[in-house]
Amino acid sequence: MNNKKQAILETAIVGAGFGGLGLAIRLLQDGCSDFQIFERSDDVGGVWRDNIYPGAACDVPSHLYSFSFEPNPGWSRAFGGQAEIHQYLQHCADKYQLWDKIQFGAEVEAALFDEQQNLWTLRFRSGDEIRARAVVLAVGALNVPAYPSIEGLDTFKGKIMHTAEWDDHYSLEGKRVGVIGTGASAIQVVPSIQPQVAELKLYQRTAPWVMPKRDGWIPPVWRKTYERFPILQKLHRTLQYWMFESTAPVMIKNNWMTRVGERLGRRYLRRKIQDPVLREKVTPTYALGCKRVLLSDDYYPALTKANVDVLTQGIRRVDETGIVSADGSHQQLDALILATGFKVPAAGAPFRIEGLGGRVLDDDWRGGSEAYLGMAVTGYPNLLYIMGPNTGPGNISVIFYIESQLRYIMAYLKHMRERNIAALDIKPDVQRKFNDMIQAKMQKTTWVSGCDSWYLTEDGKNTTLWPGYSWQYRMQAKHFDPSLYRSIRTRPSARELALEPGCEAIPSA
Ligand code: NAP
Repeated sequence: MNNKKQAILETAIVGAGFGGLGLAIRLLQDGCSDFQIFERSDDVGGVWRDNIYPGAACDVPSHLYSFSFEPNPGWSRAFGGQAEIHQYLQHCADKYQLWDKIQFGAEVEAALFDEQQNLWTLRFRSGDEIRARAVVLAVGALNVPAYPSIEGLDTFKGKIMHTAEWDDHYSLEGKRVGVIGTGASAIQVVPSIQPQVAELKLYQRTAPWVMPKRDGWIPPVWRKTYERFPILQKLHRTLQYWMFESTAPVMIKNNWMTRVGERLGRRYLRRKIQDPVLREKVTPTYALGCKRVLLSDDYYPALTKANVDVLTQGIRRVDETGIVSADGSHQQLDALILATGFKVPAAGAPFRIEGLGGRVLDDDWRGGSEAYLGMAVTGYPNLLYIMGPNTGPGNISVIFYIESQLRYIMAYLKHMRERNIAALDIKPDVQRKFNDMIQAKMQKTTWVSGCDSWYLTEDGKNTTLWPGYSWQYRMQAKHFDPSLYRSIRTRPSARELALEPGCEAIPSA
């Protein structure tokens, strides 16, 4: 890593997933080259690099789950698989020549704001440090695997794998496998491994709502058509957007439309599972949308197979050879798959972040994370989040939210540049009012209707999702309004700070 302390970056981006790469592309398109991406791993892709479990795929259609400014006419499936989405992000890095702008193996340990200079210092695990005017955290929302606290888990002598830390050298062929969890990852891994394992014990704590995915190959003729007529692909994407957006009232509002959605879900379940005992077991008992609604064509059929057993009695403990269920029965296992989700960082900072007066973000967020538009946090000037608090989608592509944020962040950075502003700090009352509005809206959503989910803090506050339509978020984030921010003194000139020219030398567009 470049350890020259005197070099000051205009923008430091943390993370090389969709958010970080998207911002880098936008900056380059705007003529700004004075940025660097810091990535703890050794490749781009974020969750799409890490989640390599069998069946890992997206449950948002491929055309919608990609940058609007970098369409891919060649998507092979209606819903992209992990490898293809990962390749898409690598393609973005190739096409926009981002590889040289990324420092791999650079794990940030702390971000510290220097009030004298109005600069951020990023400290890395290696001990290196860099300084930057602005820091953009594009660290993703789901990157720290959550391990369940089950008695005896560490005593198991077989193979244990979390879905997010899959060991693809380990063969499940002919093994007796236990899967804990029935969330978005589990419903993909279960049908993928079912044909190869001897026995599959699925430990379900809460039955999820599952709807048909209608996945399939995109015929080559369509791919060629999209390549020749990009407008058709754009149209298709727009249609998909409105189709998914139209499900918002069903999934979010907890009203009569939600009840209709539940009826459709139960009908789908009846069609796929004939055995009344199994059907009863996997029938959800909470409002549709309260937890993430899962899309799958093959999950229910997999549960009906002779080698699959859905266990709902609860887990008492794990021992050396398997799992002891709450009813005292023991299941002998060779491998245990933990499809138990993630520690959601929106509930806390991804690493130590010290802002004005030495305040610490984790302390400020003790009662639940909050920011203005999920991006700016009062007391932490020039620190911007991509996919921060309350900007997760309940029903649609996260890329749509990310692109809204890219636009806003670009306007924010441009404003600083053009006005020679050293630091911008969102006013506390603006952040307060915004979050009061969010939480008031939240009270009418399915997410607080009584189920337990990773969307909520321990106190039941939803700090993760946007309680409305995605177009409403886009409208709100459309304009950067400097009057909502406290501007901190004019910065020293680029020459005084020995800044690389980058954007500084480029006249505003
Ligand atoms: P998740 O939705 O949080 O599901 C975790 C599962 O593990 C739940 O069924 C949970 O049960 C169960 N669980 C946790 N601790 C347990 C314990 N101690 N004993 C028994 N069961 C336990 O995690 P995920 O499936 O990894 O998905 C997380 C998020 O990742 C998704 O919501 C989605 O946003 C994203 N994701 C997306 C895709 C995609 O297609 N785009 C694919 C995978 C993941 P309870 O329900 O009872 O808590």
